[in-house]
Amino acid sequence: MFLNIKMRRPCLAANWKMNKTIPEAIDFVDSFLPAVSGIDDADILIAPPFPSLFALAEKLAGTEVRLSAQNVFYEEKGAFTGEVSPGMLRDAGCEYVIVGHSERRQYFYESDEIINRKIKAALKNGLRVIFCIGESLSERETGKTFDVLTGQIRNGLKDVGGEGLIVAYEPVWAIGTGKTATPEQAQEAHSYIRSKLREVFGGHADAIRILYGGSVTPENIDSLMACPDVDGGLVGGASLKSESFERIVKFKRG
Ligand code: PEP
Repeated sequence: MFLNIKMRRPCLAANWKMNKTIPEAIDFVDSFLPAVSGIDDADILIAPPFPSLFALAEKLAGTEVRLSAQNVFYEEKGAFTGEVSPGMLRDAGCEYVIVGHSERRQYFYESDEIINRKIKAALKNGLRVIFCIGESLSERETGKTFDVLTGQIRNGLKDVGGEGLIVAYEPVWAIGTGKTATPEQAQEAHSYIRSKLREVFGGHADAIRILYGGSVTPENIDSLMACPDVDGGLVGGASLKSESFERIVKFKRG
């Protein structure tokens, strides 16, 4: 059991991936907003698909809930069919963006170098970045977890300032599989990540939040949040229902 002293403000982020139409997104916030009204000791984020961003920005204005995008491109404008720039996300009401999610690395071949360019462009344009890292099952089973995390951090954060940065540890084997890292596994990885962030950012690493992602549910959020280096959650499947994400946001405070 860990002692739950949170130096860093918790952050709970809903990653809806490619789910929900605009009316479904609006229905969600209509029931979610009253349920979380008054929660002022955590950052609560929703990352819907691009088409819902603007409609949700209007709904979320003046509430406790902030808007995030799930992806961004690194150029500001031009002939990049299908891409969306950091400035466009700001314009649509986004304050955050998820970069380097394992699904983007896997299905869209995003390399550490591309991710690094995206992070720099997003931060330069005043977005906060949720930078995702994590090892695959075979990497874990062959003892490469720490090496993989080290490479993703060094390459992904090359020439990046730490201001506005959030890191999400998302072991690929735990995403959408129902297999969650145990609190001990999560704490071990988060503490290692923080030690690497110290190499990059010095003392500022202690202010950087590290979220856990990978089959977070209402049932396991309390034990994960009790880990000293787990500062929040990046939640996929369990964020699609308002009551379920509400319970996650209302995790047991220490
Ligand atoms: C995610 O989308 O980042 C994620 C962790 O998904 P899930 O919670 O469904 O595992």
